This record gives sequence, structure tokens and C-alpha cells, in this order.
Amino acid sequence: MAVKIVVGGQWGDEGKGKMVDYLAQDMDIIVRYQGGDNAGHTVVNNKGEFKLHIIPCGIFYDNCEALAGTGMVINPDELLNELNELHNKGVDTSRFFISKKAIILMPYHISLDKAFEQSKSGVGSTKRGIAYAYADRARRIALRMEDLLDLDYCKDRLSDILPMVNKELTAFGSETVTKDEIFQKCCEWANKLKNRIVEPISYIHNALRQNKNILFEGQLGAMKDLDLGIYPNVTSSNPVAAYACASAGVPISCVNNVIGVIKAFSSAVGNGPFPTEMAENEAVDFRGTGENVDDEFGARTGRARRLGWLDLPVVKYGAQINGYTEIAVCKIDKLDTFDTIKVCVAYKLDGKEIDYIPSTKDLYKIEPVYRVLKGWKSDTTKIRKITDLPREAQEYLQLIEERGGVKVKYVGVGPSRDSIAK
Ligand code: GDP
Repeated sequence: MAVKIVVGGQWGDEGKGKMVDYLAQDMDIIVRYQGGDNAGHTVVNNKGEFKLHIIPCGIFYDNCEALAGTGMVINPDELLNELNELHNKGVDTSRFFISKKAIILMPYHISLDKAFEQSKSGVGSTKRGIAYAYADRARRIALRMEDLLDLDYCKDRLSDILPMVNKELTAFGSETVTKDEIFQKCCEWANKLKNRIVEPISYIHNALRQNKNILFEGQLGAMKDLDLGIYPNVTSSNPVAAYACASAGVPISCVNNVIGVIKAFSSAVGNGPFPTEMAENEAVDFRGTGENVDDEFGARTGRARRLGWLDLPVVKYGAQINGYTEIAVCKIDKLDTFDTIKVCVAYKLDGKEIDYIPSTKDLYKIEPVYRVLKGWKSDTTKIRKITDLPREAQEYLQLIEERGGVKVKYVGVGPSRDSIAK
């Protein structure tokens, strides 16, 4: 039995989708443990090119089940679209299940999110209603997937909840909703999804008892964690590895591996401080045009990502809060052509070097301390062994190991499943 967690070590978009798709070959179950359809996990494999938003990346293997876990907020319309898309591309989705306890993201959550983002207080969200669904969970006025299995109960809950929701919609100047229209939606979702809804605790614990291999797939990354990231420019859930256990009801002592996925430079989407951010004229060398699957545009939003040099204080922080047992460094191939490569090795705040990640407000004032390394100027995309990488690339990885305090086990040298050096 192995229980693994794949977690983002930076600002999201590190290459988790590719790593989960690769690791899933040895797994029995993949569980997405937080977030909603604001994710965009890119997978390139023998079945094609995919951007998965809700369904875990293990769906492509016949031996693997996939669970949308309790910690998620699920927009059933988006989920049905995604299932359809996979089906149309010949992917068998019969092994995809949904936790009873996952939250239903309602159409009114999206209206509230859009209205809020148009106000001065907007935080640069994807406008998919994620924060509003999580807020309703905390306020105990959300519906869970299990409510679709008891439509009378579902209707009663809507009678209790919707008057409050409509007051909020009115306050935001958004259109109100009727109980009939939302209930109609719930009936449609129940009809299409009921056979996939499972009791998650027994589902996972039965698997553990049978010595099955389970992999937890996180969304976004350390710096976007609701509690530990750059609040308020964070997501509304906890990407941190420990949340995989908390939300799944799996004791932390069951976890064997925590795989921190980082990319060889930095990128971020949305507002907030980003200490190593490059000027646009430098960033174009990384970003590409958007024509290639691995160009630096958001997999969910299509927004041009903000780009920066590798930030080792962030890598170290990710290692601290997640407890990596190993690191995967993706996109090293994107550095193949550079004469020199800059790496941020420390932060200075008010002229003094610090050894922690300061508050969000102070992070704007950070002065990154850079080390300039010699580039390797050669093609790494065909290399499959870390020890075969050019010496300069290996030195780059050693610096990551030194600062992160963890071994680099996998190195991404291209977007596809087999483009990994070990
Ligand atoms: P995720 O959300 O962490 O799964 O990351 P995204 O899918 O949003 O973004 C990662 C991007 O990098 C995708 O376009 C992947 O196809 C691409 N990618 C992942 N690993 C590698 C790699 O090692 N090399 C290259 N060139 N692209 C990669």
C-alpha cells in the first residue's frame, strides 16, 4: 500500500497534472482533494491533450479509479461538460466517483463572484463562484452532493437558503433566483450524477484495508493556500498537503510520500505580490505565443501568466509547510536556451536578509537576492536520466535540493507523460 500526495510548491501551474498522470500508472485511486473548476491541470498522453478542471488526472488508466473528494466544490454543469468532453475523446469515465460530502457550486455562487469581482474589492478570482461556494459551506448553508440523493430534503433546504441568497444577490445588483429553477437543476444533476455519488470515508478506508495505492491530487500551490499563502490574494481552500488527509478522513500517519511539484522558474496568475516577477520584455522568452500546450497562459482562464525567475525562499517554504519527501521539477527544458539563469536565493526586507516569508504587505517590498548561474545551452528534451542532464542543469537541481532540503526525484523535460528524467 502507498499513500501519496502531489502538491503544488509555488503559485500553481507547476505541472501537477502531468506528474499525477505519470504517477497514476502505479495507483488504484486518485483523489482530488480541494478546489473546484478553477483548476486547469494539463495532461498530454497517448489519448491526446486534456485540460482537466474537476476530474482527477488518473482517469486515463483502466486500473485507476478517480474520486472528486470531500474538500471540493463542484459545479455539476461544468462536471457534466467535462465528462462529455472526455467521453467524446474516447476516455472511459465509468470509474469516476464523487464524494457525497463535496459541496455543490450553484449558479448563484457564480453571479455573486462576478458581481464582487466587478467591485473595487475584487481579488482577481476566476469568477467561477468558488469562494462563494466555500463561504456557504462555512456558513452551513451549502448543499452537498448527497442532497441530490434525497430530492425532498433538497427542496426543503432550498426553501431555507434561497431567501438569504436572494437578499445578497439583490444587494449586489444581480438577478435573483427562484426555488423552482434551482430545484429543476438539482433534479437534472441528480438524474445524471446519482450513480457516481459515494460515501467517501468507507470508500477510501476499504481501499486502505485492501492495501490499495492512493494518490491525492492537489490544486494550485503553497503560496495560494487560504491560510498559509499570500492572503488575501489566495484561493478559498487549502492546497497544503495536510488538507488531503483532513478532507478525506485519512490519518496523516498513513501517508508515505509527499511529492512537491515545482517548475524551474516561477509563474503566477491573478493579483498579489510576486517577488521575482520579470519585466514583460524578459517574460516573452518564457511565455510563447499560446499556440503550444506548454506556453505560459492559464489553463483555466487563458490569461497570460505573470512570470519570474525561480524563487528558492518560496521553494523552501513549500517544503516546510508540506513536508515533501521528494521534489519534481517541471519545465527544466524551458531553460535550455539561456546563456545565464537567475535564481533568487534569499530575500532582503528593509535592507536586511530574512529567512522567512513575510506578510503579504511586506512581500511587495522584498528585494530578491539573485545568484546568476551559467546556462547549459543544450537540448534536454530527450534525456530520461537525471544523471545524463548537462552538468549546469544538475547544479541547478542541486541548488534546489540544498535549499529545499529534499531530493529531486523527477525532472520534467517536456509536456508529455513520458518526458520525465528520473
Ligand atoms: P498544473 O495546474 O500544476 O497541473 O499545471 P498546468 O497544467 O496549469 O500548467 C503546467 C503547464 O506546463 C502545462 O502546459 C503542461 O503541459 C506543461 N508542462 C508540465 N511539465 C512540463 C515540462 O516538464 N516541460 C514542459 N515544456 N512543459 C511542461
